[in-house]
Amino acid sequence: MDVVARLHGARKRYGDTEALRGVDLEVPAGRVLALLGPNGAGKTTAVQLLCGLRQADAGTVEVLGGDPRQPHTRRQLGVTPQETGFPEALKVREVVDLVRAHYPDPWPTDGLLSRFDLADLAGRQTGGLSGGQKRRLAVALAFAGRPRLVLLDEPTTGLDVDARRGLWRLVGEELAAGRTILLTTHYLEEAEALADHVVVLAGGLVRASGTVAEVKGRVELTRVRARFAVPPDAVPHVVRSAADGDRTTLFTADADGLVRHLVRTGADFSQLEVSPVSLEEAFLVLTAGEACDDRPAEPERARS
Ligand code: ATP
Repeated sequence: MDVVARLHGARKRYGDTEALRGVDLEVPAGRVLALLGPNGAGKTTAVQLLCGLRQADAGTVEVLGGDPRQPHTRRQLGVTPQETGFPEALKVREVVDLVRAHYPDPWPTDGLLSRFDLADLAGRQTGGLSGGQKRRLAVALAFAGRPRLVLLDEPTTGLDVDARRGLWRLVGEELAAGRTILLTTHYLEEAEALADHVVVLAGGLVRASGTVAEVKGRVELTRVRARFAVPPDAVPHVVRSAADGDRTTLFTADADGLVRHLVRTGADFSQLEVSPVSLEEAFLVLTAGEACDDRPAEPERARS
């Protein structure tokens, strides 16, 4: 596996807070890596080390074979930070041109604007953009220089469903063009849709990493879902259960044993489904005990 960026033993402290406590992370070439974790897990800090905005206290940071604080390396990097402020009086086209000017072979301005659905806004001052339009511009800027590696910190927060799906499509096109993308997101279905690899951070440590399937496999659980006449109580083999209307989802390491138990005890159930856990469910198990209750509201997010 070719690796275009890596953190090795990376540590970063802000005063009393140890944001990263020895993180190893590899970004595979030509892939999408999703960095996941509850609020305060250290995702933004990791992105800031990779784009050279902050320096690690210990450990190594290597990007495209070099140091991300070197101009030569940064010219091959595109970044959408978690928060962006634009000079309010500058027009969208002027901001794009400002960023393009830092790269040797950028996208033509009009092409970039139309790909990110910003063509109609080219002459608008950035101060007059909506929150979602600003976010689209911030993401477009990460791709402006046709960089080899793109770092996107919560790129779709604040985007409506159409814009989010549009960005997913663009990410696919950019990958096909040979780019590598690292993104952070709180939307687990986004990571599942886009990422080849995921790294789950919590409390400044890596809790799991690998392909989406491998990370799901790490929790070694299966979901058994059914409509129960009477919600099952104290069922053996069940590590967690969640009610959803008249359906109950049971999480178990032994689906066969659980179903045998339900049949043996004459439980009145119908519409039984047995399926692997979703990435969101695996995430909740892997980050159990870490704060993750103040994620942004997201109507699309699957709930259990
Ligand atoms: P979120 O999902 O909320 O964006 P995150 O995973 O990106 O969180 P970080 O922003 O990397 O997490 O923060 C990790 C920890 O470091 C948090 O406890 C945060 O409060 C702390 N932290 C981050 N930046 C600073 C700073 N400049 N000064 C002090 N503490 C900081």
